[in-house]
Amino acid sequence: MSDFAEFTFQGQPGYNEAAAREIIASVIPVRTIAMYCFDPRAAGAAQAVADYFGDEVYPGELLLDETGRKMGSTATVFPLIVGGGRAADALRSITVSQHLFGIERVVVVHHSFCGATSFTAEGITAAWKHEQHTDISSLYDWDGISIADFEKSLNYDVSLIRNSPGTPKHIEIYGLFYDIDSGELTEVVRDVPAEVA
Ligand SMILES: [Zn+2]
Repeated sequence: MSDFAEFTFQGQPGYNEAAAREIIASVIPVRTIAMYCFDPRAAGAAQAVADYFGDEVYPGELLLDETGRKMGSTATVFPLIVGGGRAADALRSITVSQHLFGIERVVVVHHSFCGATSFTAEGITAAWKHEQHTDISSLYDWDGISIADFEKSLNYDVSLIRNSPGTPKHIEIYGLFYDIDSGELTEVVRDVPAEVA
């Protein structure tokens, strides 16, 4: 164990994996993952998602123990911030979120005038070859790299998440377009399992 073992659950005396999972779930009431772009102009997306559904808490408040240590929070929305808000970057986090917190909803948000709409898969691959002397043509699924059409990108990402074995089958998945200037969200895709609807 390194010098940082005291800061891990696994480094605690009497550590028990199942018990640690229960503790975390009890102090993290998250049920919704809001995935959006790292562009600072899109930073309002998490709050917009919370407002859109109305039954969410964001950003919430931190929960402290008697010694003032940060134990959890009251937020029910966790932001998942990745380039373009594209789902290829998010699949592992969705799996981990279900395991630790138990989630009910994943919301994919793509925003107006995103940098991802400024380039193509062909363009970035050609530039990479020229500038980095490396072939990335088979590294990513081309339909998930950039954005040419928001209806296509949102449908693609909702399907990618839905079809991942690492996505719990019961969750609702939404694809929303976010106007960074008005702050308005427009629902483009709604994938709600029949037993939940
Ligand atoms: Zn963006």
